[in-house]
Amino acid sequence: MNNPFVGIVQTAGLLGWCMSGQCTTCGSMFFVAIDRLAGERGDALADALCQLDPRTFVALHQWESALDVAFRTLRQSSQQDMVSRAWLAKAGQSPSFDKVVRSLVL
Ligand SMILES: [Zn+2]
Repeated sequence: MNNPFVGIVQTAGLLGWCMSGQCTTCGSMFFVAIDRLAGERGDALADALCQLDPRTFVALHQWESALDVAFRTLRQSSQQDMVSRAWLAKAGQSPSFDKVVRSLVL
């Protein structure tokens, strides 16, 4: 499965991008990449987030912060609703993923 959001998180791990929105060391490249994926309407980011596999995602570099940044980058509340529903439907697959999801959506 080629999930573009997962690809960005993997790239961040490889290149040492941090998850800060104001970093002069890496230039906040993670934010730049997430913003580019979201595009003007945010649909591509929303789709990628809906399709995350909790079990493999939680093994990635700084996945909790990455999830937080991505969720807050969604352009519309309807997209946040859609992603929240998709994540809650995956409850039980990964306790640590569920915990972060609850902190974001509830
Ligand atoms: Zn940085």
